[in-house]
Amino acid sequence: MARKTLGFIEIDQERCKGCGLCINACPANVIRFSEEFNSKGYHPAEYIGEGCIACQFCYYTCPDVCITVYRYKTPALSK
Ligand code: SF4
Ligand code: SF4
Repeated sequence: MARKTLGFIEIDQERCKGCGLCINACPANVIRFSEEFNSKGYHPAEYIGEGCIACQFCYYTCPDVCITVYRYKTPALSK
């Protein structure tokens, strides 16, 4: 069963050096290497487009602060 998507990320692919640390850190396995090259000649990381749980592991792992994490607003729990 697919995991719920709780947010999404944006990656500054021009600043990414393709180290792969964020890919290894992501518990949802929703980051991969792009098949494209950036201007520095690296395959940058890219979000697969769904399944992010907004845990921020990628944000804290990236040594170059290339990733921004967004969390969707969720409805308040009913009492
Ligand atoms: S916030 Fe968490 S689930 Fe989302 S891409 Fe980053 S590491 Fe993966
Ligand atoms: S950790 Fe940062 S620099 Fe490394 S691949 Fe991920 S986004 Fe790129």
